[in-house]
Amino acid sequence: MNTRVYLSPPDMSGTEERYLVNALRSGWVAPVGPDLDAFEREIAQRCGTAHAVGVSSGTAALHLGLLALGVKAGDAVVVPTLTFAATANAVVYTGAEPVFVDSRAEDGNVDPDLVERAVADLRREGRRVGAIVPVDLFGACADYGRLVPLAEALGVPLLEDAAEALGATRDGRPAGSFGRAAALSFNGNKIMTTSGGGMIVTGDAALAARCRHLATQAREPVPHYEHADIGYNYRLSNLLAAVGRGQLSRLDEMITRRRQLRERYAKTFAGVPGVRLLGDGDPGANCWLTTIAVEPDRAGWTAAELGAHLGTHDIETRPVWKPMHAQPVFHGRRAWLTGVADRLFATGLALPSGSALREPAQERVFGAVGEFLEGR
Ligand SMILES: *Cc1c(COP(=O)(O)O)cnc(C)c1O
Repeated sequence: MNTRVYLSPPDMSGTEERYLVNALRSGWVAPVGPDLDAFEREIAQRCGTAHAVGVSSGTAALHLGLLALGVKAGDAVVVPTLTFAATANAVVYTGAEPVFVDSRAEDGNVDPDLVERAVADLRREGRRVGAIVPVDLFGACADYGRLVPLAEALGVPLLEDAAEALGATRDGRPAGSFGRAAALSFNGNKIMTTSGGGMIVTGDAALAARCRHLATQAREPVPHYEHADIGYNYRLSNLLAAVGRGQLSRLDEMITRRRQLRERYAKTFAGVPGVRLLGDGDPGANCWLTTIAVEPDRAGWTAAELGAHLGTHDIETRPVWKPMHAQPVFHGRRAWLTGVADRLFATGLALPSGSALREPAQERVFGAVGEFLEGR
């Protein structure tokens, strides 16, 4: 019997189990303890930032990051239209308005020229722009060579949504180190997981302290429960942090596996007309999801047809994120569009990319892809 092949399932070994059991036996079961402290230090080191604050999800990390950067009700916050809804949702939690900016065709990451135009247009209308939130799409860092100086010149804080990009680099610098702060996710489908969790990483000690304070119900350091701010219950459990430490010790190995899968897809689709891998040729990508774009006129088939074929073999695929400007919940929001994200949504397909995908399941995937291509 074949079991279903998933896009990006958790990849667990005996290491995580040992960390978890040790944490449980230590008695530190609350969202405080030595594994949480150590996990924060280890992630900060990995991201090249001085500080890290463990929280319950990547969405919570984005929310607190925005608040700590001073984003407030009525601000506009620039978000790529091609992202997971959490990026935009976190903006709405603050009372600010997400405004959407289109992608570059090569990797789907946000187009810096359009970001510049959006900020200029908004300011001309007298709007305050609270933050720019680039997303490192599918594990490839956004164009920080352009975005970091641009944000500095505009005087707008940059919050990096690195939820998909832990372990990736751009120009030798790690994902999470760009901008004033970054948000990471350890959700079950991400490059490494704590089942659910996230982290804010930053070089700014005051910003980290502010996030830690807001994540723990904004309790003032006095014994009688004093609160000067609205707080949140967002802290990461020490037990989950222990799982995260186990995963982090295996991160390089897991990235290597995903890169090998990407290589195999690249070979499989090399020479197939009308097919390209998004972000191909970015040596720093962590290869979280391998995503192809298929031009049906040239290929003679569509991404959806390949997805359906793999579905008959019980192999999961997904379309590229449906752009935020096309989501019912964000209907009518401001957007600066070129059509690239719509095109990627129409022609893109994310393929099984998990580091837990071993033989013989890998052979099943490539066999089914080969069978489809031969039949065309
Ligand atoms: C997964 C993800 C998030 C949210 O992370 P959670 O841990 O699931 O809350 C935010 N942004 C992007 C781009 C993501 O892929």
